[in-house]
Amino acid sequence: MKGYVFHGPGQSSWEDVPDPAVKEPTDAIVRIDAVTICGTDLHILKGDVPEVRPGTVLGHEAVGEIVETGADVRTVRPGDRVLVSCITACGRCAYCRRAMYGQCRGGGGWILGHLIDGTQAEYVRVPYADLSVHPLPAALPDQDAVLLADIFPTAYEVGVLNGQVRPGDTVAVVGAGPVGLAAVATARLFSPERILAVDPAAARRDAARRLGAHAVAAPAEAPEQLTADLTDGLGADVVIEAVGLPETFELCTRMVRPGGHVANVGVHGSPATLHLEDLWIKNVTLTTGLVDTHSTPTLLRMASAGLLPTADLVTHTFPVEHMAQAYEVFAGAADTGALKVVLKRHLHEQLPSTA
Ligand code: NAD
Ligand code: ZN
Repeated sequence: MKGYVFHGPGQSSWEDVPDPAVKEPTDAIVRIDAVTICGTDLHILKGDVPEVRPGTVLGHEAVGEIVETGADVRTVRPGDRVLVSCITACGRCAYCRRAMYGQCRGGGGWILGHLIDGTQAEYVRVPYADLSVHPLPAALPDQDAVLLADIFPTAYEVGVLNGQVRPGDTVAVVGAGPVGLAAVATARLFSPERILAVDPAAARRDAARRLGAHAVAAPAEAPEQLTADLTDGLGADVVIEAVGLPETFELCTRMVRPGGHVANVGVHGSPATLHLEDLWIKNVTLTTGLVDTHSTPTLLRMASAGLLPTADLVTHTFPVEHMAQAYEVFAGAADTGALKVVLKRHLHEQLPSTA
């Protein structure tokens, strides 16, 4: 089969790789029907996630069909259409027993496209299939469902729930990529008074407005001053970091009000300064986290009921073999206007050109 292989920082290609096979009785093999690219994949290609070994197939988000299951898989069968979660869960370890699947000690956690071959391929082996794929309602199209593999649970759990967004809050989201935009959309479920989104890319600021941000700013437009102006000088109740740079983390800690929350979502490749000389007196709660995907079943029900703006986040669709081009379009979002790019199996037979 073909897959998108990481060959070290800045080097990757769509190429022949061995077909995956069931190795453990708890494995399933999934034929990929829709797959997408995450900001985290861009971090991997920048060299920010050094544990990804050259030779690994990237990707940790997908929708597909089960084609084979190991002898111990109970809840899915060949022919089932499933969401492949970015998080794999053994279901038995101390962390899985607390629904902290991201920290699974039994060989799960974030492993796809990280520690083992991932979903940017024609097929993928999913360990612990019973707890790591979700059967999909027929009404939910592939390209909507694929956003629930990572970005919606990440924005909701690591941003909105960790940040403890409440009715009437001022919420600031730094970084309006797909994760930041999903944070805007899921923060709205809690009726905040206002949401401010910060991003250097005009197209992403526009998208934030469409998804419900009340105010937007570029990082060069003094977002901390804007936050202060909007809140009588207090600062934001909740600030969600969805970029992964030292300067954006530090900006978040300047935008938060005393007693507020900074919820870090971004994957960081280098140290950021924690300005305790300013923060010690502000009673600030800082959270970090890898997504657990404990919210995925809830989010799937909400998406099926039309309560999540999944369709608004997909701007480009490609046949899966155009993976390298899709990476260029996603990484060049400031120029291409890309939000989420979705790659589909056999799309070239359906569509003569890319959207
Ligand atoms: P993305 O790369 O598409 O989006 C990042 C956004 O940040 C872009 O819109 C970019 O214009 C913006 N940005 C760059 N510099 C900025 C600055 N100085 N100020 C404000 N915005 C700036 O990525 P994404 O897919 O939306 O993911 C966002 C982050 O979330 C990434 O770091 C990703 O690795 C991380 N992530 C974390 C988890 C987790 O479990 N914690 C899961 C998935 C993704
Ligand atoms: Zn576990």
